[in-house]
Amino acid sequence: MTAEILDWTRGGAGIAYQTCASCGAVWYFQRGFCPVCGDGNPVTRQASGAGTVYARTSVARAPTEELRAHAPYLIVLVDADEGFRLMAHGDPTLEIGDWVRARFIDLAGRKIPYFEPADGRR
Ligand SMILES: [Zn+2]
Repeated sequence: MTAEILDWTRGGAGIAYQTCASCGAVWYFQRGFCPVCGDGNPVTRQASGAGTVYARTSVARAPTEELRAHAPYLIVLVDADEGFRLMAHGDPTLEIGDWVRARFIDLAGRKIPYFEPADGRR
């Protein structure tokens, strides 16, 4: 049984990533070949949405008119539990090293991942 993979870049409320069956590489942006070994059959998987904050930056000047209404806001780089890194919006209280989980919010007409503190322990 193959479950449908939800990918927010394609309108779904989920985070997708890819892995390479040949060399074991893991990456975020979807592409047709492995960026490490060039294998042409990457496997797309569903991420749990859990991860750890690697870096954070507060954005005071929004780059677009749609985002201006939300500024200042926090952008975080998150190391996903599955081994890839992604950039997303996050709760302003997040600090480096915090364990987080993504939920999906509507921003400027799109569903985007938004990281919040995760409950409990990993
Ligand atoms: Zn590979």
